[in-house]
Amino acid sequence: MKLYMPTMVFQEKDAVRNHSEQMAHYGKKALIITGKSSSKKNGALQDVTDGLEQYHTSYVIFDNIEENPSIGSIMKAAELGRAEGTDFVIGVGGGSPLDAAKAIALMIQNRDSTEEVLYQQKDLRHLPVIAVPTTCGTGSEVTPYAILTRDDLKTKQSISHMIFPVLALVDGKYIEKAPSSVLANTAVDALGHMLESYFHSNATDYSRMFCQYAMEVWGTAADVLFGAEASEEDSARLMFASSLAGMAIAQTGTSLPHGLSYYLTYHKGIPHGKAVGIFLAGYLDALPEEFEPQVIMALRTLGFGSIGQFAGIMKELLGTVEITGEEMEIMADEIAGNQRKLAAAPFDVTREQILQIIQSAGKE
Ligand code: NAP
Ligand code: FE
Repeated sequence: MKLYMPTMVFQEKDAVRNHSEQMAHYGKKALIITGKSSSKKNGALQDVTDGLEQYHTSYVIFDNIEENPSIGSIMKAAELGRAEGTDFVIGVGGGSPLDAAKAIALMIQNRDSTEEVLYQQKDLRHLPVIAVPTTCGTGSEVTPYAILTRDDLKTKQSISHMIFPVLALVDGKYIEKAPSSVLANTAVDALGHMLESYFHSNATDYSRMFCQYAMEVWGTAADVLFGAEASEEDSARLMFASSLAGMAIAQTGTSLPHGLSYYLTYHKGIPHGKAVGIFLAGYLDALPEEFEPQVIMALRTLGFGSIGQFAGIMKELLGTVEITGEEMEIMADEIAGNQRKLAAAPFDVTREQILQIIQSAGKE
């Protein structure tokens, strides 16, 4: 078994404030990467800039990372980072700015390279990345992945370089006032990471350990997604579950639901977590019989009964997505032709089964 998790994680209330000195000492000038507005409203950006100012580290902010970041935005931000002489990158926000920060850190360091290197198998260095997550979904603060939109391939794909943040400062307070749709979509992304990593051909006892505890923690806070009032403790738990699930996929990668989700996000603009969540019950259902005891264990740990009940609850939470018969065929072909995604499933998956998973997402 192998376990590699090189990120230093502080998971606590006021994590950024408590560890500002460490954050500020990664370089002389930081490039802060964030989304358009949420990090200004939830206080994360202020905490980061206060922390840098306290230790006299200068910074410049790029606050224009869109959801499902484009390569164009990466290049623009990297240009700013180079022009300003920045020597480390701090991603603040959901998975989009965190993933973007990793790709930007690579492009600043390799200043004479063009965007093609993002997807080339080359051994390249990158600036240090610090991550401050404000959604409870991607776990990007502890994963080496950076998923960008590829217009040339009409899909989304992780860059070829494995970039773990050096430091993750994780604080549940940033999601306390998040709209219910952001909470639901991102908590379901984390749920996808737990289930896809648990039922993955690369799973080991180490990676399952992260999944199992992530499911337990997620299960104790999930009421919040269905309208219960969130306590400070609930927000902290959803964040914790998301980071644990990130540590799991950092070991295994994701599987078919994530593979299928990219088509829906690229072509229909469906948010990442929802695009993953609608396929989860179908994925569990497609697992061969020998997995049944583990499926039951996983669902119980999360607080669900049968796969059928789980499917119903996901639909209630996320709604359905209309997928035409033609789109279903295209999606099935795409995955059936993707050896890497097929190999992620812990059984020999047929095109027919992929089609069934897709069809199950549309059923009432
Ligand atoms: P996101 O795309 O980063 O953000 C979605 C929306 O939520 C944005 O409008 C954002 O606003 C808003 N938002 C963020 N934090 C908020 C808060 N605390 N309160 C209110 N609104 C908030 O969402 P995400 O689901 O976290 O990230 C999805 C991306 O991560 C996808 O590209 C996905 O492929 C990727 N991903 C990466 C990994 C990995 O391992 N690296 C794993 C799974 C998914 P602003 O734009 O104003 O900030
Ligand atoms: Fe995900």
